[in-house]
Formats: sequence, structure tokens, C-alpha cells
Amino acid sequence: MAALTSRSAKGGVPDLVLLEEISEDAILSALKNRFANDAIYTYIGNVLVSVNPFKNIPIYTDAHIQNYSGKQMYESEPHIFALADEAYRNMRDRAQDQCIIITGESGAGKTEAAKLIMKFIAAVSGDSHAGSKIKDQLLKSNPVLEAFGNATTNRNFNSSRFGKYMDMEFDYKADPVGGLITNYLLEKSRVVKQVQGERNFHVFYYLLQGVDEGTLSSKFSLQKDPSKYFFLNQSATYVVDLVNDRELYKEMVSAMKVVGFKDADVDNCFKLVASILHLGNVEFVAQDDAHSTVTDSPALSAAASLLEVDKQTLIQALTFRTVTTREGNISTPLNARQAAATRDALAKAVYERLFVWVIAQINNFIRAPEKEARHVIGVLDIYGFEIFGRNGFEQFCINYCNEKLQQLFIELTLKSEQEEYLREGIDWVHIDYFNNAIICDLIENGQTGIIAMLDENSLLQNESDSDFHAKLKAKCKGHAHYQTNTIADTTFTLKHYAGDVTYDSVGFIEKNKDALFKDLSRLMYSSQQTMLKLMFPEGALADSELMKRPTTAATQFKRQVNELAQILLQKTPHYVRCIKSNDQKRGGLFVDELCLHQVRYLGLHENVRVRRAGYAFRQLYSRFLDRYKMLCPETWPLWESPEQKRQRTDAVKSGKTGILAVLEMQKAAFQSTDQAYQRKGVEKILSHLKLGQGEYLLGNTKLFVKQPTTLFALEDLREHRI
Ligand code: ADP
Ligand code: MG
Repeated sequence: MAALTSRSAKGGVPDLVLLEEISEDAILSALKNRFANDAIYTYIGNVLVSVNPFKNIPIYTDAHIQNYSGKQMYESEPHIFALADEAYRNMRDRAQDQCIIITGESGAGKTEAAKLIMKFIAAVSGDSHAGSKIKDQLLKSNPVLEAFGNATTNRNFNSSRFGKYMDMEFDYKADPVGGLITNYLLEKSRVVKQVQGERNFHVFYYLLQGVDEGTLSSKFSLQKDPSKYFFLNQSATYVVDLVNDRELYKEMVSAMKVVGFKDADVDNCFKLVASILHLGNVEFVAQDDAHSTVTDSPALSAAASLLEVDKQTLIQALTFRTVTTREGNISTPLNARQAAATRDALAKAVYERLFVWVIAQINNFIRAPEKEARHVIGVLDIYGFEIFGRNGFEQFCINYCNEKLQQLFIELTLKSEQEEYLREGIDWVHIDYFNNAIICDLIENGQTGIIAMLDENSLLQNESDSDFHAKLKAKCKGHAHYQTNTIADTTFTLKHYAGDVTYDSVGFIEKNKDALFKDLSRLMYSSQQTMLKLMFPEGALADSELMKRPTTAATQFKRQVNELAQILLQKTPHYVRCIKSNDQKRGGLFVDELCLHQVRYLGLHENVRVRRAGYAFRQLYSRFLDRYKMLCPETWPLWESPEQKRQRTDAVKSGKTGILAVLEMQKAAFQSTDQAYQRKGVEKILSHLKLGQGEYLLGNTKLFVKQPTTLFALEDLREHRI
């Protein structure tokens, strides 16, 4: 069924632009109606809104892939495959790089959407070169990334704890030849602590459940029981419905092999994973307020042996810190609390670098030689705007990233609208919208931005969160998007495009410093295991080098986000906005309040408004003719140029008078490149229907219609005729 036929299509408008009234409530109820009919996808122009159904709807079969392949987006029910097809065809036929930006809160269906897009593209693209091998590698990179980067949380049993941007690379025939993955902000604090009901990263459980007891003990000195490990037992959550650790272990290992990892690499990865579990069980005894010692335990020995470092050096690095002063190095003791924090820092660092190493390896395996890769389709699967009861440094970074993406969205959407008007020879239509550049600047400005202030404080000795907070208060006061709070004096509020968020400044400085004491880097660099050694190259640096201003976490993230923005800006964008229908992961349940909240934070209302402000609907003349020709006697049953008419008469004369022949010619007429003539046909229809002058504009190849109601009228007339 053609999407535009139908206010009645599967429970409501397939495109929110067609709503008669636009308001958040109208958007919500349209989505809800469609959801009730299992129509989980809805468009806003070329943006796809997806509402997670939490149940399997049979709409991803091979038949669906075939059905959506090679069609225009509005010709079928809205679908993620339609968007993937649009991106793929654009890349192939117009030779443009594409990107698909997927946002939404945790559990909204972003990662599933990304996987469906990859599945579709792999299915419809060809296999020249090593095409089918690379397709396997690309698809199998997912289980590997998920093993290391996903975890069970209270929101999602398979929650990605990192942001991911993946380019699929294609050759001149539009067959896949490679890929490149970039990751953002891994939630490494999860390695050492998880809240009730949540788990550590999947790979820990895969290892314990997937490897047989004998090997587990001989190779990794581990026991099967996860409750034996401090880094797993704090949340007392081990087994999760829907996560079969044993099966997933097998899937992960076989995926690693398909992607290209050698057996020895896989082994080394698991050794590091095991070493982290042992590190977690290393305990400290307080000697006095300032000193502590490490309890000599099997865990300590196993950690040293798996990390392939000297046990004494490990003990020293965990209980003392070397500080470099002008006078030379001083070794200061750590108390039991500080020693435990050092142990945690080491565990987090090893895990994070292992994750980065895994991605770097995957990239080595899948990256196409430069001369082969002509065009890319990038898929961004990144955490949406977050607002919790307490919002810390992580939410600050995530929301900053979303603020940048929104800025990009504005720039790109309006830019592409503008370009289309220009291409079509239509005067620019001014669209009023909120530009969030001012908020981005408040956060990221090199001199006066919040990140710059945070860095300034993070790099000074002994500066605290409260100093940072005081500075913010002094410098940002009066900014339209900043607000100081009197209730709790550690907080500040930012007025984001999506709403106000109050951040607690406690912990900002420490998280921003993200410093690994050089004793730890050097310890890791002393490892006999080359893979681990190379993960800590700074361990080789001299003191004088290490004294240099280090890059803070926020600045590094800012750099990444800006690089990402540059990458996306060079591509034709497509958007998927994911909405989580309920918090209980219940199939088919649509909770109004929760969804309304997301409609708001995803900026859907503004999106519809901007889209409607210009010309809500546009269609190629040929297609418009095809669809509405029956509404005007002059274009029905045929609209043909004199040349086409001559050809047809000739054909009739020569005896080819069958209806099929006439239909063939009719088709040829619609596909004719003679746009001027097609345009004439469209004008005939419009004037026959007495459409007002202000209601539409005629572009070079397309008709632009201002009001959706005009379309409704056309559709009504058409239905009447049929
Ligand atoms: P996110 O990446 O946004 O956190 P996921 O993509 O991991 O969310 O989705 C969370 C869960 O929701 C999935 O594991 C799956 O059970 C369900 N889900 C997501 N998308 C769909 C879909 N299109 N159809 C059915 N279930 C889905
Ligand atoms: Mg995800």
C-alpha cells in the first residue's frame, strides 16, 4: 500500500507531517495508534521514528528485504529497510557518502536498528571481490563488540555501554569491501562496580560459563562460580533471562575467528579478562592511616601471572605512588582506601585498553585498501539525551554529544532543504527554528566554555569539585542557558535544547583527570605479554615527558565529538529516532507518559514543525502524474507527448493494439526524461482541480505542496475514482 494513500494506513498517518494538527499530544497519539497496529515505524519526512515493540513482529523476513529493495520510501509502509535502501541507493546511484544517525535512550532499539540496517545492506548488495567474506566479517564484528562492550542493565539486558560509529565501505559497483569502527566513551566504571540488578560486561560471564572447568582452572586459575569474584558479586546478579552465557561464549569465539582473530589473540584477550577478575579479589590491610600492605593471596599471584608482570612490582605499584618533583622522585605510601582505588584504576585501564585494542584489531581485519573503497555508509549508534535523578560527568558528556548532534541535524536538515529548493529553482523559504549553537558554545568554547574551566581546575594540584563549581557560578552567571541552584550547592543546571538538566559537580574533577599513575603504566609496560605492553605505550616515557599537560577525559571526548561532526557533515544524513515504549520490556505496551517524554527529548515536535514550515510534500512530476492522472480528463487514461502519441498510433496501425502494449507505452511516457512535458501534465491536473496558486510550487523536476490537507484532498478524490 502506498504510504500516502492513507490516513487510514495501519492505524494512522504514516508521516507525521500529514497530521492535521501538530502538537506533542497529536504526535504521541498518532504513534500510539500505529503502535497498536504493530506499525512501529513512522516518518517525519525522511526521518524515521521507531517505537520498540519488545516483541517479534514478522517484518524482517527475506520477503520484506526484497519488497523494500529499490523502492521509494513513501511507496510502502514506513520501515527501517526503506531507510536503509534509500541510503544504499543514494550511495550507489548518486555516488554520495551516506550516514545514518540513530538516537534514543537506552533500550529504545538503537543497536537492533543498526543491525537491521547492516543486515539489509548485506542482503541487497553484491559479492564481487571478497564481498561475501567481508560481509561476514562486518556482521560478525557485532557479537565481538557486544561481548566486550555490552552489559545487562536495569533498562536493557543487552545494553551497549559505548557509542559506536561504523563505516561500511563500498567499491565502484557498490559492493561492500570493508569497514571502519570508531568507539566513544566506554563506561569503564562498570568493570569494578555495578548497581543492583545489573551485571559487568558480558565477556566476564561468557568466560566463566563457556569454558570447561578444567581449562578454566588450569589456564586462568578461575572457578566457575561468579559469586567468588568481587567485581561480579557486588550486584549479586549473575544469570539473566535471554542471555545464555554458554551459547554466547561460543558465538563470540566463532565470531572472533570469522573476523580474523588468531587463536593466540583470543587466548590473550581471555587472559586479560581473567586477570581483572583476580585483581578484583586482591585485598589490602591497613597498617596505619597512611600505609597499607597487600594480602598475599592466590588472587594476587594469579593476577601477576596472567598479566605477566613481576609480583613484587605489582605489589609496589598498588601500595605506593611515585610523585615526580623538581628535586626528583618521591615514593609515597597509599592507605588501604587509596590502594583499593589504585587497584580499581588498574582494572578499569586494562579493560578499556583491551576494548580499544579489540576494535583496532577488527579495523585491521576489515579495513579495505584505500583504492578499493569509493563510498561509505556510516551508521552511528549512540546514547541519546540522558536525564536521571542524579546527573554526573557521564551525563554531561553524553548530553553535550547530543547537543552537537542536534546542531548537526539543524544544519544538515535545513541545509539539505535549502539545497533542494535551489536545485529545483525555487526561492528560499525562511524557516524559523531554535538554533542550539549557543549551548554548544557554552560547553565547548576553548576559552570560556565549561569544559575549558573544568580542565583548568583539573590540572591544578588540590583543586576540588567545589572550586570548579564556584568558578562556574562566577563565570557563567547570567548566561541564558545556565542556571545556578540554591537548593543543593554542588549542582548547576544547563538548559539544553531538549530540556533542563541539573548536574551534580561532585566527581567531575576526578573523572575528568582520569589519570593513571605512572607506576601503573610502567608496570603494564614491563609485562612480558607484548599485546598488553603495547596497550600502555606511555609506560616507556621518561618522567619529563609524563610531566607534560595530559589530555583530560572531557577534552578528549570533545575532540572526538568534533571529529565525528566533521565526518557526518560530509555525508548525506538519514535519521532514526528510537522510542522505548515501556520500562518493563513488555511486548506491545505503550506508556503515554514515558513516550511523551521521549517525543520531547528527541525534538520530534520541532522536527515536524520545521518540515511543515517549508513545503511539506514534494514529488517528482513523473510519479505525481502516475498517481493522480485519473483526476483530470486531459491526462487520463494517457498523458503523452506528441512524439509519444505518434509512436503509439504507429504501433496501433502495425497491429500491436493490445491493452498491454498501450500500458507499456504509458509506462514509457511516465518514465520519460522529458520533464518539461511531465510538468505540463501536472499543471493540467492542478488547474483542472482548481488548486490555489499559493498551495504549490513547480520546481525543475518536482512539485512542492505546502499543506498536507491538499494531499488529503487529492487522495480522497483518487479513492473516489477507484
Ligand atoms: P538500545 O541499543 O537503544 O539500548 P537495543 O537495540 O539493544 O536498545 O534494544 C533493546 C531490546 O529491545 C532488544 O534486545 C530487543 O529485545 C528489543 N527490540 C529492539 N528493537 C526491536 C524491534 N525492532 N523488534 C522487536 N524487538 C526489538
Ligand atoms: Mg545499544
